[in-house]
Amino acid sequence: MCDICGVTPCDCRCPNATQKAVYICTECGEPICEDDWYWDSDDGPICERCMGEMNREQILYLCGQPLKKAEWEIEWRN
Ligand SMILES: [Zn+2]
Ligand SMILES: [Zn+2]
Repeated sequence: MCDICGVTPCDCRCPNATQKAVYICTECGEPICEDDWYWDSDDGPICERCMGEMNREQILYLCGQPLKKAEWEIEWRN
């Protein structure tokens, strides 16, 4: 077992790893390894860890569908 990451085979974030990262997360800059889950967002890949830290509002915002404020529709009359 590896001394640095404690996993066999090494996690791709480990300096001893033989595997390379598949993508780099646009949010945290951490590598996304093979078999990792990630979100293929319009801005680039986002790792599962960052997704877990985001709330629904942030996720919608990143999807280009930010929350709207509820307002009465005002009919303008001349
Ligand atoms: Zn390692
Ligand atoms: Zn990330």
